[in-house]
Amino acid sequence: MASKEITRELVLTALSEVLDPEIGKDLVSLGMIDNVKIDGTKVNFTVNLTTPACPLKEEIKGSALAAVQAIEGVTEVNIELGANVPVGQKKSEHSNIKNVIAIASGKGGVGKSTVAVNLAVVLAQKGAKVGLLDADIYGPNIPTMMGVDQLGGATEDKILPGEGHSVKVMSIGFMVKPEQALIWRGPMLHSAIKQFVQDVDWGELDYLVVDLPPGTGDVQLSLNQTLELQGGVIVTLPQQVSLDDALRGINMFQELKVPILGVIENMSYLETPSGEKMDIFGTGGGEKLAAMTGVDYIGSIPIDPEVRKGGDNGIPVVISHPESPVSLVLIEIAEKIAAQVSILAIKGN
Ligand code: ADP
Repeated sequence: MASKEITRELVLTALSEVLDPEIGKDLVSLGMIDNVKIDGTKVNFTVNLTTPACPLKEEIKGSALAAVQAIEGVTEVNIELGANVPVGQKKSEHSNIKNVIAIASGKGGVGKSTVAVNLAVVLAQKGAKVGLLDADIYGPNIPTMMGVDQLGGATEDKILPGEGHSVKVMSIGFMVKPEQALIWRGPMLHSAIKQFVQDVDWGELDYLVVDLPPGTGDVQLSLNQTLELQGGVIVTLPQQVSLDDALRGINMFQELKVPILGVIENMSYLETPSGEKMDIFGTGGGEKLAAMTGVDYIGSIPIDPEVRKGGDNGIPVVISHPESPVSLVLIEIAEKIAAQVSILAIKGN
């Protein structure tokens, strides 16, 4: 008996049984299936993931493959993976920026800028369009960490951001000496932040990563009035004093009604050459804080001298040592954040 003709409908019906494990909806109703082409018994299609940094890429592809292979008569299935980052629920209508992710910490020196830089670079390496805004007006060190020391130029009415490691970069450090920015307060700060957003031609971005100044002050407020923050990430050290500060960061996002994507504990441990993990600053604090406040725990970043060297010489560790344990953690953290942002965008918050 000749088998049934393989049709687009049959393929879509099979794929409508495959769920995105994190979002909990099927690939067809999420609009993730594209370019279905059927050539006799061969089926080709594209799965557009909700982020190019999707941690479950292979799992989703495997399930889609199995579902279509199970259709009677199908002899070959080819799947191409693409990505289409959804627009955040909080995106302002005039902006080409799909999602703004703010990186905060209660105090300075905990690795907030390091996280922001490596997150932006990983997302760009995965194929996303990424911008990095250095809003740390009091200590703009993103230009050094990204190896970018100037603007990309200017058009008639807009400033073009600089670019490094495929990330568009904007920092007050391109325009004033750090000691000048230090005296800025209130209205001046607000207008500087506004300019960063409105007078800079960011182009289309999937993600704008914002490195906030430490603490919970004017800049955070101004930024939230100018940019719609899709989510906030808190970076902390493991010890108690840092956690108290981090708690204030969590409270700040809650007051601003910015969804908290999670807590990251930095400098959690030092891995000795023999593979032993030494806790330098105590242990488990970030996780405790997350549990206490009901916020997700995103991960623990080890201490590695290459992280500091990468920051000092403008080549982030995920580029200089992509296979090192610390980079693998940073990549995993970036994937988790990207997935969380997509879930928020699709499900609402
Ligand atoms: P913040 O933005 O919170 O002030 P930074 O990201 O500038 O902190 O980090 C402070 C210093 O610590 C920098 O010199 C940075 O390179 C270094 N650093 C941050 N995280 C790590 C890490 N996991 N291992 C080693 N050095 C780190």
